[in-house]
Amino acid sequence: MANAFENALRQIDRAAESAKMTGEFLERLHYTMREVRVNIPVTMDDGTLRMFEGYRIQHNNWRGPFKGGIRYHQNVDINEVKALATWMTMKTAVVGIPMGGGKGGVTVNPKELSEGELERLTRGWTKALKGVIGPEIDVPAPDVNTTPQEMDWVASEFGHPAVVTGKTIANGGSLGRGTATADGAFQVFETLKDRLFPGGGPQTVVVQGFGNAGRIFAVIMHKKGYKVVAVSDSRGGIFNADGLDIAALESHKDTAGGVQDFPGASNITNEALLELECDMLVPAALENQFTAANVGNIKAKVVFEIANGPTTPEADDVFVQKNIPVVPDILVNAGGVTVSYFEWEQNMTSATWTEAEVGEKLEKIMIESANEVWARKEKYSVDLRRAAFILALERLDAAKK
Ligand code: NAD
Repeated sequence: MANAFENALRQIDRAAESAKMTGEFLERLHYTMREVRVNIPVTMDDGTLRMFEGYRIQHNNWRGPFKGGIRYHQNVDINEVKALATWMTMKTAVVGIPMGGGKGGVTVNPKELSEGELERLTRGWTKALKGVIGPEIDVPAPDVNTTPQEMDWVASEFGHPAVVTGKTIANGGSLGRGTATADGAFQVFETLKDRLFPGGGPQTVVVQGFGNAGRIFAVIMHKKGYKVVAVSDSRGGIFNADGLDIAALESHKDTAGGVQDFPGASNITNEALLELECDMLVPAALENQFTAANVGNIKAKVVFEIANGPTTPEADDVFVQKNIPVVPDILVNAGGVTVSYFEWEQNMTSATWTEAEVGEKLEKIMIESANEVWARKEKYSVDLRRAAFILALERLDAAKK
């Protein structure tokens, strides 16, 4: 299987080909602008020294400062971070915010570190990258296994709140950031719903992943009266054909630690969850969930990508053949980076926006972006992923010129 970065480049090439785009800018997008690898010394609680490997990948800044999260994971590898940085370039262009694409990471299992060790690691990462990141150069944010706490440490070590977004409110974070990804996803869903489900619906929704993004999205869908019939987390999934009471499930997850063994629902595996018959399937966990190996078994009518990179290009081809629309990650989950940009703007101008202001601005951007992507789909008779990439490439080409 191709690595994640190769997949991201194939997505760019396919879109460019469909829209008959040419030009040097396309070749430039095949390369990151800068890849920085640092070794970070950390004094552990027992007094010993441990070295950690960290990265910052800056893919593109034609439209504004590099922007993208910092991931802490034992399997972080450079091709994954390069792919994530490339998708950030595309995502910020799809929603038209004046930012570029970057991503960072540290190869570490953060669950094995104490809070003090995590703070020293995060401050060490920031110190090592002091000339690389900056409010007008490169603005990181949280990603898998990093939280507002880590962002506060980055801001404090660097000495300026606008160097990073996703901070706690007390340290310059924006109201509305915590729910922004799910809110934005819901606004995309509302905008495209009648076009995705012309016969009405969706009657049944399945959500893979019950973390920050998937859990809040499930809560919103449930509140709006949609039937969420299955959800999962890393321990496994649950299913109830009559719909799950998501509010009750939230307390169950908080006390039991996972969604399984929820009263009235049957436990299912994650593999089975993806293959359930349903109207809308929402991957909100990890990359590479739909591959050549399982895509033939997917029975959903629509795939709605909250996770980054859940579908490989091979699986995309099968979805197109089977006429299953895939609403792509770079549109669906862009609410998070949009409110991150709002946070940066507030920090740069010493302003504080109300939650309602943030919500209104976000909604406007998400609705417009969803309509712009759909317009490209119609114009070029392509699937929604190609349409979103075409929109991004048009904006990148214009910025380059
Ligand atoms: P998170 O760590 O809060 O949640 C991830 C969830 O997925 C957890 O419930 C975890 O148990 C579950 N999970 C892990 N492995 C799984 C598996 N094999 N099967 C089913 N569930 C599994 O992360 P998050 O912030 O919710 O991010 C989820 C996805 O959304 C990632 O791809 C992330 O890049 C993307 N995303 C998140 C945001 C955001 O603002 N949180 C923004 C844009 C994109």
